[in-house]
Amino acid sequence: MPELPEVEILVRHLRERLQGRRIRKVQILRQRVVRFERGQSFAERLIKCRIEDVSRRAKFLVFQLSLRQSSRRLIGHLGMTGRMYVLSGKARLPPHAAVVLKLDRGRFVFEDIRQFGRLTLNPACLDNLGPEPLTEDFDPESFFQGLQRSRRAIKPRLLQQDLVAGLGNIHLCEALFSAGIDPRTPAQDLSRKRVAKLWESIRRTLNRAIELGDNLALNLGGSGNADRLFYFGRQPGETTVSDERFLVYDRQGETCTVCREPIRRIVLFARSTYFCPRCQT
Ligand SMILES: [Zn+2]
Repeated sequence: MPELPEVEILVRHLRERLQGRRIRKVQILRQRVVRFERGQSFAERLIKCRIEDVSRRAKFLVFQLSLRQSSRRLIGHLGMTGRMYVLSGKARLPPHAAVVLKLDRGRFVFEDIRQFGRLTLNPACLDNLGPEPLTEDFDPESFFQGLQRSRRAIKPRLLQQDLVAGLGNIHLCEALFSAGIDPRTPAQDLSRKRVAKLWESIRRTLNRAIELGDNLALNLGGSGNADRLFYFGRQPGETTVSDERFLVYDRQGETCTVCREPIRRIVLFARSTYFCPRCQT
């Protein structure tokens, strides 16, 4: 499942290709990904719009559109298997294309095999998100105050998205390891000093992953499995994980890079959780 860094890389890629393009035609091939919209009016509200910008909020892609004096936002989410890319006019559509926006130059394709992704014009999905982790809105003191109010274990607490937005299972495991915090620790038991360390680890973990993705030779052109957007986690049929830089995630039984203790996997609130029992207390 794509996490914040993959979405950020994708946004940077799409922004370059979509800025200034105009939507000529909307094809909805899989109704389910626009399930919060009525197909007909959804298409009508997009046609003729100009794409002004593409940005990211948590794990959502935000397409800023304009039509004459009015503006609107198209919100996208990749779900589990969603992919978005720009195809040339002549290239064949992939079998799982869900929505296609025909542009004045090329086509924007939203492809989704399992159809958990979505496109919507209703920005309500952005309403209850906490601060963006990589901006100044995310500050260590408010983070500490928020955690003080919760008895929940730190890891599931941070997956709730209201104290900080966009953190997923993988990078949260990594950030907790870097901060030396046991994922089961009740949020309110963490001292101000430990929270400050966690705050820093979250930012460093995400920034590193974005930097790694920026430096990989990604093929985002919609050429099937050769697309290495989801460079975190092993892809079906792939045997190599050479691009991964995880310290604990998916490394159950392997030795900790710091203390040589085997990495443990537990299930915490139904999510696989990896940690070093010696380094994380
Ligand atoms: Zn260790």
